[in-house]
Amino acid sequence: MTNTFAQIIVDVPAMQTNHPYTYLVPEHLKSVLAAGMRVEVPFGHRQVLGIIVGISAQLPKDVSASKLKAVTRALDLAPVLNTELLNLSRYLAETTFAFRISILKTILPNALKADYKHYIRLVDEVDNHIRTKIFKDLDEIPFNPQQFSDDELVILARLRRHNQIEMRIEVQDRAKIKTAVAYQFSEDAELLENSLSELKQNAKKQQQLLSFIMGHLGETWSKHDLQQKLVIGDSVLKQALNKEWLTKVQVEQLRDPLKAMTIDHVKALTLNAEQQMAYEKICHQFDQQRYQPFLLEGITGSGKTEVYLQVAQHVLKNNKTVLFLVPEIALTPQMVRRVKGRFGHQTAILHSGLTDGERYDEWRRIERGEATVVVGARSAVFAPLSNIGLIIVDEEHETTYKQNDNPRYHAREVALWRGRYHQIPVILGSATPALETRARAQRGVYELLRLTQRAGGAQLPHVEVIDMKETLASGEETNFSDVLREKLAQRLENNEQTVLMLNRRGFSSFVMCRDCGYVPRDPNCNLAMTLHMDSHSLKCHYCGHEESIPHTCPQCGSKRIRYYGTGTEKVEKELLDLFPQARVIRMDQDTTRKKGSMDRMLQQFGRHEADILLGTQMIAKGLDFPDVTLVGVLNADTALGLPDFHASERTFQLLTQVSGRAGRAQKQGEVVVQSFNPQHYAIQLAKNHDYPGFYQREMAVRHAGRYSPYYFIAQIQASHQDENQASIQLTKVAQWLKKHLQQQAVILGPTPKPIAKMRNRYYFQIILKYKDQQLVDNLLHVLQDNAQKVTKKGLQLSIDKEPISFM
Ligand code: ADP
Ligand code: ZN
Repeated sequence: MTNTFAQIIVDVPAMQTNHPYTYLVPEHLKSVLAAGMRVEVPFGHRQVLGIIVGISAQLPKDVSASKLKAVTRALDLAPVLNTELLNLSRYLAETTFAFRISILKTILPNALKADYKHYIRLVDEVDNHIRTKIFKDLDEIPFNPQQFSDDELVILARLRRHNQIEMRIEVQDRAKIKTAVAYQFSEDAELLENSLSELKQNAKKQQQLLSFIMGHLGETWSKHDLQQKLVIGDSVLKQALNKEWLTKVQVEQLRDPLKAMTIDHVKALTLNAEQQMAYEKICHQFDQQRYQPFLLEGITGSGKTEVYLQVAQHVLKNNKTVLFLVPEIALTPQMVRRVKGRFGHQTAILHSGLTDGERYDEWRRIERGEATVVVGARSAVFAPLSNIGLIIVDEEHETTYKQNDNPRYHAREVALWRGRYHQIPVILGSATPALETRARAQRGVYELLRLTQRAGGAQLPHVEVIDMKETLASGEETNFSDVLREKLAQRLENNEQTVLMLNRRGFSSFVMCRDCGYVPRDPNCNLAMTLHMDSHSLKCHYCGHEESIPHTCPQCGSKRIRYYGTGTEKVEKELLDLFPQARVIRMDQDTTRKKGSMDRMLQQFGRHEADILLGTQMIAKGLDFPDVTLVGVLNADTALGLPDFHASERTFQLLTQVSGRAGRAQKQGEVVVQSFNPQHYAIQLAKNHDYPGFYQREMAVRHAGRYSPYYFIAQIQASHQDENQASIQLTKVAQWLKKHLQQQAVILGPTPKPIAKMRNRYYFQIILKYKDQQLVDNLLHVLQDNAQKVTKKGLQLSIDKEPISFM
């Protein structure tokens, strides 16, 4: 009898276990198990979840047959991960410095991750008292430490020491398929005919049901649909059951996250010349079955979405599927509506706002091929679509595409990987592409397609930059300049709408002079220094430079130098004091916490039931309201003060995005940007809608500062409960890196992180700037392997390549 072996990644995230283990496949599972399936396997003294990554008839050379354990049971009947996704997990584990199991679990929907249930079982005689009180006279009970008193836990621990009880761990499948009651109609026409002739004249409802059944022999109808259709009560159904006109069955029910959303069908528009050109170039690559990334650089409102949709249509017509990524889809219900309006029920939606159940159902619809267009946020990039013909990454510059904790994958990079795998076009779209992306297009790695005009003839709005230092010169503390007040009043008078944005990014983390706009910067890195209230100091988080907080401004001598900050609620109050008649919708984290509330507010605003939409950055993206003729940015500066070399880029992007909300239809739009640094190039170039100009200027800044895209950046972070240990260990790392890298990289730090202490751990970081990716990757892998050995002593180390946040 030949043996079969399975290579399995076990659910034990650690460096030592970060490779496949070989298990014996028991006889009865030989025809069942395949790569991509989940199983339960013994590991050490417990049972854990495992994912099969390979099946073989031969025992790998380095494994001894005698120690081999067997797979306990299968958790799936068919693979939940296909070959592509298994390959992808290996690639990502390698490039993001994450454990393979963490990647695999990220790819799978939550519902397919296992829960572990613990039980304790009596295996020896114990006191009757214990048996009754703790075990409720049972042999085995679930073990959940919270439900026992301290005394009881002491008793249990003693029983455990004396081997009187055993622990048993069960791997529990979380995947729950929702079912609903349904009725299957009889196919026995004769029985039904007879019933009909026997029915009493006044049994109208029964007659009605019976005729319906006779017209739909053998069909299955859900109880809900049947009752809606025929307006019949439970008693009628019960009688029908007794007479065997139908039988009760359970049917699988897919939870539809968009049930509450009304969707109108939307027709394709006639493309303008630039759109048509982009459309043809992308379709051509698709027809040739070639991998080709495109950068679709189009100003806001230039009709990028229309291009995506029409290329998608072409791809679907050729029986391929489409993956459409958008940033934080919950934030753009308008976009969902547009896609669903075009493609209807073949659209699946994946985003973090779904319940695990809804997500699992959408996932299954995709996996079975019922959904052929997937719209989703970051993790939707792992959608189990097969036969992909097109991948779209809308607003490709958005930082939400990068996962900020383990595994630190970037959805755009994953999209490109999948594009290459399937040999298809990938569209990266943006009005303000990430510098890295734009630089690649410059070098011809991506093909650049530009849309320079607003579609449908609308004009870009006129942008006015207001110097808030002048507004505050009078000493009045206000969030509204005279110009903005005036324009707001006009809008209210003309019954037009306004969008107001309060930028919360980088809030109150830095110091600024209210009289001259001066922000203290560190002399080495030229970055805004971060305020530390604990030590009452300013620190540079790249190089560690530290100064005390100034009491007077070194530039103008003013005493009004302080941290900057205000909240949306405060602004709303001031707004209502200024314009008591205005109808205001406030949209921020507080008011949008409830599911669907954001969509409701946006719809309300769309119906013009409010005059002003006041919100945080969340309102900057993707909104398309024709009546909005004024956009106000209350504070353009806050992001400039972030201790991050992306600060100018993020500010430029945000201002461009939010300005794009004005004047999208016939009415000309206006934008008012309030700033303490009105001359800053990010603000001035955004005012002129000049992305190419910004690109050039910022590339020069990056070149001088040796930042990306000229250099690769990696952040190495260490944390420890003991502040000294964290610092000492990371200093050793820095010395080791210096020894191996010598002149080939810039090593900054170690320094405490901007948020230096969290949950009783101290955080330090090193920043690496380098050119030789292979060399540094190798070193970082060695570092990661070695770090695992130190972990036992309490040090945690993590590696983040191309970090998007330095906080
Ligand atoms: P973007 O995604 O570049 O911001 P959209 O696709 O949202 O731009 O288009 C902006 C507006 O222009 C939308 O209202 C859209 O319906 C309209 N539009 C797009 N393409 C065309 C076209 N070819 N003709 C007329 N209107 C168009
Ligand atoms: Zn510095």
